[in-house]
Amino acid sequence: MKWYQLNERELMDKLSTNQVKGITDDIAAARLKKFGLNQLNQKQRSSLLFLFLKQFQDFMVLVLLAATLLSGLLGEYVDAIAIIVIVLMNSILGFFQEQKAEKSLAKLKELSAPVAHVLRSGEWKAIPSTDVVVGDIIKLSSGDRIVADMRIINERSLEIEESALTGESVPVNKTANKIDEDHIEFADQHNMAYMGTLVTKGSGLAVVVATGMETVMGQIADLLVNTKAQPTPLERRLESLGKILIVIALFLTAMVVAVGIWQGHPLYDMFLSGISLAVAAIPEGLPAIVTVALSLGVQRMIKKKAIVRKLSAVETLGNTTVICSDKTGTLTENKMTVKQLYTNHQLMEVTGDGHELKGNFYVNQQKTQHRLIKEALLYGMLCSHASIKKQKNKWVMDGDPTEIALLVAAHKANLNEQSLQSYRIIDEIAFDSDRKRMTVIVEDDSKRRFAITKGAPDVLLPRTNYILDEQGRRPITSKDSNKINQQIDDMAANALRTIAICIKPLSTESLRNHQSIENNLTFVGLAGIIDPPRKEVKQAIKACKDAGIKTVMITGDHAKTATAIAKQLHLINKEDAVLTGFQLNQMSDQALSEKIDDIYVFARVTPTHKLRIVQALQQKGHIVAMTGDGVNDAPALKASDIGISMGIAGTDVAKEASSLVLLDDNFITIEAAIKEGRNIYENIRKFIRYLLASNVGEILVMLFAIMLSYPLPLIPVQILWVNLVTDGLPAMALGLDQPEKNVMKMPPRPVKEGIFSRGLGVKILTRGFMIGLVTLFAFMTAYQNDPLHLTYARTIAFTTLVMAQLIHVFDCRSERSVFARNPFQNLYLIIAVISSIALLLVVIYYPPLQIIFETLPIRLNDLIYVISMAAIPTVLFGFIPTKK
Ligand code: ATP
Repeated sequence: MKWYQLNERELMDKLSTNQVKGITDDIAAARLKKFGLNQLNQKQRSSLLFLFLKQFQDFMVLVLLAATLLSGLLGEYVDAIAIIVIVLMNSILGFFQEQKAEKSLAKLKELSAPVAHVLRSGEWKAIPSTDVVVGDIIKLSSGDRIVADMRIINERSLEIEESALTGESVPVNKTANKIDEDHIEFADQHNMAYMGTLVTKGSGLAVVVATGMETVMGQIADLLVNTKAQPTPLERRLESLGKILIVIALFLTAMVVAVGIWQGHPLYDMFLSGISLAVAAIPEGLPAIVTVALSLGVQRMIKKKAIVRKLSAVETLGNTTVICSDKTGTLTENKMTVKQLYTNHQLMEVTGDGHELKGNFYVNQQKTQHRLIKEALLYGMLCSHASIKKQKNKWVMDGDPTEIALLVAAHKANLNEQSLQSYRIIDEIAFDSDRKRMTVIVEDDSKRRFAITKGAPDVLLPRTNYILDEQGRRPITSKDSNKINQQIDDMAANALRTIAICIKPLSTESLRNHQSIENNLTFVGLAGIIDPPRKEVKQAIKACKDAGIKTVMITGDHAKTATAIAKQLHLINKEDAVLTGFQLNQMSDQALSEKIDDIYVFARVTPTHKLRIVQALQQKGHIVAMTGDGVNDAPALKASDIGISMGIAGTDVAKEASSLVLLDDNFITIEAAIKEGRNIYENIRKFIRYLLASNVGEILVMLFAIMLSYPLPLIPVQILWVNLVTDGLPAMALGLDQPEKNVMKMPPRPVKEGIFSRGLGVKILTRGFMIGLVTLFAFMTAYQNDPLHLTYARTIAFTTLVMAQLIHVFDCRSERSVFARNPFQNLYLIIAVISSIALLLVVIYYPPLQIIFETLPIRLNDLIYVISMAAIPTVLFGFIPTKK
């Protein structure tokens, strides 16, 4: 079908839709059922069987299975079956861990999928892009990712960047007119918009003509490789660490085996023990547990309203030294209200809070209804995309908060939708943060045309040659300008955001000549808009400061407005911490970088400045988190170490360029995410510490015993059991541990910091050594008391080792001392430890298992002895507090 050749009527008929109402939800559901979801065919997820079999790919596990088979053939059935059961259980655990990680990653992807604004049964709705169907009318605005193939039916300065399809990065000007030519390539069908491309400018309406695999993108989808999730730096580092640990574990195991054989232990015993020890000591599950810890942490972040788009961001969050935050909406509430108006050289106070539609205008406490108030606000209404409508007895406000504020003020002056009926918008130059202004061309009933421009006053005033006052339009004098400038300063000093409203009668000028349209303007009035700081932000900024993280405000607003808000937030106390975009332009990169550590507010900046700010900070060695929402913010978001986009106000482009999305656009969510990021990393350190110290203990007890010519203190099934139960569950629970109280009191972690830094390596070795030592001691005393009962001595060793690890796990929760934290805080850990103890008791006291694990019931006094021995490593080190 050649959609580009049809006019609007034919389009609507062919697609059985309607440009005013769209389609109904029922029709949409039927079409969705018939044509399927609007998505490209995804790569198949790994099948469950594959995931399960993957657990056996580890070389040592295979060797163990082979050895078990061998021992089975030699008649050691009980041993062989026990080992196989344990290996199977281990694999099941690994399988569930990986499945959980995969599922949560898939969920994350779902959460960050774009939404589409569609017209259904006459109402605009935001729906997931996958639910879009042919015939849907879609609203397009700057920053949107196009979600299906569509024919444009209405546009204002619409430009779309189609490099995803054509490779051409220069945006294409789009039109709503039909094209009569035949046989034109899709790239030349300028009234079409294609799935996967980006709206870089303007706005428009379009009707969906193809979805999913039927789109142009779908037809070339095979060419698009499904990129594999990149491992995070930490995962990569752990992978290489894992390789080193394997070598060390293998070396030590080989030593145990060699010394054992030399000491005259039977070859077969040593062989199976060696392999079991190798399987136990090699932390093969480490990367999987790290991924689980990362993805569980990411889920906790979702609960706190932060969506991590790239897993590596979790680590970088802990490194962050500077947060560059947009002001509007992130540090402030984005609930804007016009508080002051200035027309005819008169300042008016506007009453009525928030979005309340009732209020009055006062000059010197006297009510006023001056004609120019209405006129200025009418222009404000016309030059706007926002809307206020009554729906089911409730006022519904939609659009840009600045524009809503102007609309609300207009309602207070008794203006409403009807007041606009005699005007028609015939063209528009869109607002963007670079230009800081917007213009519409309006035609009234008598076909007279004029332009309305609204925007930042300091941008518009130099373009103004006339002023409107009681007598009408007259040339502006320097006295007028001074008065207006004074007014702007006063408003800004009161933390008000300022907007100037100007008009211009038009004769024959063409709109495409932006330069001349927005010159020679007539000044009509000023609006001072309040946007109060979010209450909770002050505390969050302080928390970041305590954590060694500097917060920098970046805003397009006037320097004085920004300064006033920054002071309210306790971000600055002196004014020289403010730099404006104008000053920035005068500075070299070098000069900026030298000064940047002293700057806390960047005002009247454009998104292009943001990139320079990021680079200057990075040059100073900072790890920078940068927020953004618009198309133009994308380069700065990409260049920063953590790009943060806004879930509500953010465009698809900004979201795609970011690694973190704030669902509530709120600064405190950044602080919460940093805290969580730091905690996840600390938790990973906790279980690495636990696992490795346990492994050190296991190897050392075997090595020491053999070197001292004692029998082996543990048999293979016991070693494997320790590896499965004691190591697995508590380690997982440590991954879910709550943060230490001081987690936001420490400075950011240096990027280059190794896993074992801050004394972790020493802790692993000393604790591991002590665990090995007490186990050995318990074993030796029991064996010397009664050399005929080796099985009993082994049971003592086994129990001591398990208990020592289960007590040591509480030590791992703190970098300071075991006594620094409430041991009952982490419920998962308590459950994990209790179940491990219960399993231990079953193995010791349940006769059928006694046969398999070669254990004997321990007498009560021995049990007390064992527990006291097991507590030594933890209690002893608990009294040697580490600083921090
Ligand atoms: P942030 O703090 O998130 O960077 P901001 O709202 O401070 O954003 P912009 O949105 O770029 O910055 O606005 C810059 C200036 O442009 C404002 O101070 C205001 O004067 C003007 N402005 C803002 N919104 C509009 C609009 N919809 N139409 C015209 N002018 C606007």
